[in-house]
Order: sequence, then structure tokens, then C-alpha cells
Amino acid sequence: MEDERQANDTITFLGTAGARIMVANQILASGGLWLNLSGTEILLDPGPGCIVQSTKRKLRGEKLSAIILSHRHLDHSADVNIMVEAMTQGGFKPRGWLFAPADALETEPVIFSYLKNYLDGIEVLKEGKSYSIGNISFTTPIQHIHPVETYGMLFRTAEHTFSYIADSRHFDGLCHSYGGELLIINVLFLEPRLPVDHLSLPDAEHIITELKPKVAILTHFGTTLWRAKPWEIAQRLSQETGVRVLAARDGMKFDLSQLDNP
Ligand SMILES: [Zn+2]
Repeated sequence: MEDERQANDTITFLGTAGARIMVANQILASGGLWLNLSGTEILLDPGPGCIVQSTKRKLRGEKLSAIILSHRHLDHSADVNIMVEAMTQGGFKPRGWLFAPADALETEPVIFSYLKNYLDGIEVLKEGKSYSIGNISFTTPIQHIHPVETYGMLFRTAEHTFSYIADSRHFDGLCHSYGGELLIINVLFLEPRLPVDHLSLPDAEHIITELKPKVAILTHFGTTLWRAKPWEIAQRLSQETGVRVLAARDGMKFDLSQLDNP
């Protein structure tokens, strides 16, 4: 039926670039994830180019109910101001919520003060808390190890559960804070590169093996990972873990109904 088809859950990858070199040169696009969950549209981590990538794909800012920032780094937040404008039609139709960690909002806010008035409100993300947006809920189970305050999210829709594991160094307790049928993992490096606080491919493999989701999607690629051809890596990981692993592509739209078929 028409109504049921509209109630599908989809995730559009506006961009797949991670961190400085990939984003600064737009070797891959950046811009975050656009969630459409049973008709509730949510923008996650609007990095540079989000307004360009979303309008190009006919995703409409004024349909958003919320914008969520995992953290304040530029590759996750650069377009938050223009996306608040788009969500509220330049402030003429105040609406929508912004979710962000305290340090994205306090001493040096990523959002201009005049735009805050366009919103229904701002919610501060904290470790272990739950939030709701319409019929969707999500939790921020654990604070990540990253140079700024950072959270990933575990989302629940009427039909599906999925996790977004945002930027972090790997640590005990990271992977078991997450779960669900689908894992989206920001994997920057091919090899571990301590002390830089990002996940590498062996970390991602460990997480996938531990959590055994139905599908795992790798994204947020740094240069080393990109040169190693993420789609080939994903294929190898699928064979090694027995989990269907995909490498996100710019503009890829993942339909969560794919999780329903065994
Ligand atoms: Zn970051």
C-alpha cells in the first residue's frame, strides 16, 4: 500500500569523506547522513557541502524535524547554520530541534545565536541519555575518546534498530555500547595510528565480529583507506566476518527494509 511504502526507513549518505585531506579537497563529498525514518526526517552531522549535496538529491531542508551533531569538528558541523535556515525556511517558519554535545554549544558555539531563535529548541547530548524526535528515539550510550566531546547514537524506529558509531579512538566498552541490525561505522585509517583518536580498519573488523549486525556500512574514509579501495575491503570483511559489509558511496541510499530479508 502507498502509505506503507512512504513509511520506509532510509539512510542517504550525502558524503563519505573523513577528516581533513579528504574533506578539504573534496576527494569524496562530505555532508553527513540524511535519515528518513517512517517519514520523520533527521539530518546527522552536516559537514561541508551538506546544503549542496542534499538539495542536489532533492532532499528538502524544510522537511527536517531535527539536526543532530555527534561533535563539533568541522567535518561534522560546518553546514549546521545553513541547514537550520533551510529547516526553518529562513526563520519564517520556526520549527525543529538541534541536538549537540555541550561543548558544541557553550564557549564557542557552532551555531549563530540569531539562528537559535528559529528552532523549537536545543537539546544537549549527554552520556547514557535517551531522546525522542516524533516517533523515533535514540540514545547516546557512551562518550567517545576524541579531542572534543563526541557521541555516537543507537536509533530505534517502529521497525528497525541501528547504530551510528561516530569518530572515536577504540576503547574497551565502545562496541558493546552499540548494537542493532545495522552498524554505520566511521573508519578513517587503514592501519591503527595512535595517538590519533580515530577508528582503523582492524578496529572496525573487531566491532563487526563482536556485534554481528545483519549489515555493517563503512564510511568517513581517510586517504589511506580510500586508496585501498573501500569496496574491496568491504567484500573481504564480509567473507571474514560472515556479516554483510558495505562501503558507503557518495549519494548511496540504504533502505532498511533490506534488513528484513534473511
Ligand atoms: Zn572528529
